[in-house]
Amino acid sequence: MSKYSFDEIVSHLKSSGFVYQGSEIYGGLSNSWDFGIIGAALKKNIKDLWWKVFIETNPYNVGIDSAILMNPKAWEASGHLKGFADAMVDCKECKSRFRADKLIEDTTSLTVEGKSFEELDAIIKEHNIVCPECGKANWTNARAFNLMFKTFIGTLEDSKSTVYLRPETCQGIFVNFNNVLRTSRKKIPFGIGQIGKSFRNEITPGNFIFRVREFEQMELEFFCEPGEDLKWFEYWEKYCYDFVKKLGISSDKLRIRPHAKEELAFYSKATSDIEYAFPFTDWGEVWGIADRTDYDLSQHSKYSGKDLIYLDPETHEKYTPYCIEPSVGVERLFLMICCDAYDKEQLGEGDERIVMHLHPAISPIKACICPLSKKLSENAAKIFDELVKEFPCEFDETGSIGKRYRRNDAIGTPFCITYDFESQEDNCVTVRDRDSMEQKRIKIDELKDYIKERIEFK
Ligand code: ATP
Repeated sequence: MSKYSFDEIVSHLKSSGFVYQGSEIYGGLSNSWDFGIIGAALKKNIKDLWWKVFIETNPYNVGIDSAILMNPKAWEASGHLKGFADAMVDCKECKSRFRADKLIEDTTSLTVEGKSFEELDAIIKEHNIVCPECGKANWTNARAFNLMFKTFIGTLEDSKSTVYLRPETCQGIFVNFNNVLRTSRKKIPFGIGQIGKSFRNEITPGNFIFRVREFEQMELEFFCEPGEDLKWFEYWEKYCYDFVKKLGISSDKLRIRPHAKEELAFYSKATSDIEYAFPFTDWGEVWGIADRTDYDLSQHSKYSGKDLIYLDPETHEKYTPYCIEPSVGVERLFLMICCDAYDKEQLGEGDERIVMHLHPAISPIKACICPLSKKLSENAAKIFDELVKEFPCEFDETGSIGKRYRRNDAIGTPFCITYDFESQEDNCVTVRDRDSMEQKRIKIDELKDYIKERIEFK
């Protein structure tokens, strides 16, 4: 379990510019969050890194950016119009509303994925689960609540103009399957990835940015020959896990949880979640990897009347490819990274520091240039001007050097560079490492390469 309470970590993220309350000056909007001056950069770095590792440097994959609003028929085909509903129960006493599965899982040790509404009702009764708000056990039966946000296109608000904010990005990939085949030189196996906003009218959002109604997903749909799917499922499961491990996330707080047969969606042959031991729960899903068989392409073929099939150029065989989907939410990944990076260290009597041990590849600021005295600012600024061409840097000349180190530790800056009076003589600066706090004298000429080498994702 985490050494630090969730409240402590959230308070740090709010006070140091990672996350702001959404619409704060109007009293906020429940469960909406804005990413601040540090958080926006961290979020962008996470997305850029995913794009680099999953799209640019992976030999199989290409990327697209599809529209949020889609023809509503796409949501009929995907099953979302009928089936994208959570089981919701209301407390008859205090009128609070809960997701039945989460209510059960939070109060018992049961996993209830795949259970029918009747089965959920029975479990709530059998375990005498009480309302977390008022403590009474007087529930409505579980019923469906569609999670898709509805809106209208054009000026008429009628059923003909109804559109939905996408609840996942992957349907925009499936409907472009033929376009990607036509405009790329890809052959099976290959994947199409994208990063974009998704919206779900969650019944019980919460735990800060863990479950929100507006979030970003990074999804890959990887198409392969039927029969090869389980091999590729393992490949992507490992690929995603390695990505998280390389970010430096603690092994003892990470696990891969394969879904039991009865938990699987009816079209899925295998599904695993990469889970993290968040401070507010035992294990929380961060990344889902699913073998979705040929379900999505077949459904879109059926509903659109357009064949989404593959013609093997060598064997001339025609088939509907199977699809492996690794899907992760940017906010969940962000939260896991921050929970894992947060640390408070005692440095001496009455002196402590909060430090974010972020992987330098995703740190918002890579180096902070600190002249020891304002008299040295002009020369130190020249170093800043050079380094900032290569990576994001800060220039900080205010406060004691110790305070400047603390400010940078708190936002995860891996290097602080001090320009002192000696620097004018020996053309060297002191580089202080965030994690070890070790200080090294480095030649100014070698500084750029020294830092570049250490902020790589390897
Ligand atoms: P959950 O069971 O937590 O509702 P899910 O199984 O419905 O999640 P998927 O549909 O598989 O989630 O979505 C893929 C990923 O998108 C999740 O692993 C998670 O990282 C992210 N995600 C899903 N819903 C939300 C949300 N409401 N807020 C933030 N991230 C989300």
